[in-house]
Amino acid sequence: MVDYGITNTIFGYRPDTIGTGNSDGVRRRTDYGVVHTQEGGTGDAIALARYCNSANVSYNIEVDDAHTVLNVPVTEAPWAAAAANGIAFHLCFAGSFAAWSLAWWLSRDASDGLDEDAMLWRGARAMAAASRQFGFPLEYAGDNGRSGWPVLPKGVCGHKDFGVRGGDHHDPGDIDGVGFPMTEFLRRCRTFVHPVPNLIDAEARVAAGWIGTRITRGENQIIRDGRLVGAWVAFTNGHIYWRNGANAAYAIPHGGLFEAYTARGWESGECGFPILRHQVFAWGPTRPSKAVCCSCRTVGRCRIPGPRQDRHALCRDGLGNRVARPSDVG
Ligand SMILES: [Zn+2]
Repeated sequence: MVDYGITNTIFGYRPDTIGTGNSDGVRRRTDYGVVHTQEGGTGDAIALARYCNSANVSYNIEVDDAHTVLNVPVTEAPWAAAAANGIAFHLCFAGSFAAWSLAWWLSRDASDGLDEDAMLWRGARAMAAASRQFGFPLEYAGDNGRSGWPVLPKGVCGHKDFGVRGGDHHDPGDIDGVGFPMTEFLRRCRTFVHPVPNLIDAEARVAAGWIGTRITRGENQIIRDGRLVGAWVAFTNGHIYWRNGANAAYAIPHGGLFEAYTARGWESGECGFPILRHQVFAWGPTRPSKAVCCSCRTVGRCRIPGPRQDRHALCRDGLGNRVARPSDVG
């Protein structure tokens, strides 16, 4: 699925162009995804789109911390970077400046009217979608503007990497030095593309003996403030959760533990995302088997069908690898 996270569509229809608004029409190639700073504005992507429509400039997408605005269809060539218009998807960060420090780009302090960290996440989501749609890799293709043209045939770069032929701009500033955090931006882009299906599917194979039939088609993405924080998939006998950035997903069995997890507000509650496989203890005929979360010690009855279960999943951020003992739950 290609999901740019678009919240608003603000096209500037013009009878004097062959494209939609400030556009040269459909691109023949999309070798690059390009990031731009606005060099003005107040951090309002809607205002930036309206400004673009009234001036001879445009980008495919403009983002701020709360909006992802489609200003020119993603398949068309916006008026963003001269000779690079027709070979790239163009994205602009509203209210941003090439002079920003790396720390400024990652700041969550919104007292200046803009949560730059959230804006960077919105941009990453859109760039990841473009990468998927057009097939350019999520790798930095430039060299901080030194060569005057990208050094790789495809990838992600800044406006400055197109040099004089790109209009001789210097945005988005110093890349990966003291300015624009390209490495972190690309890491965030990749979180929207790679691990989501792989890790949940991998856990489903591990739990195949008990978890039952998959109910969720695809995955339920958990989005907060425009960023992907995780995903979950329901099965007949359990749920599998994956936290963005984690190197594994974990299954939580129904019949006790998942109900306890639900009562605690799922991943956004006190338990957080599961970080370990849970254990199941059997204490003889007079006491029921119990499933225990390895670190938060949430306890639930285990009624998973089949032979005695060993290790499934569930745990809590922050408490480490504590293993529950019978005395913990007796
Ligand atoms: Zn630019």
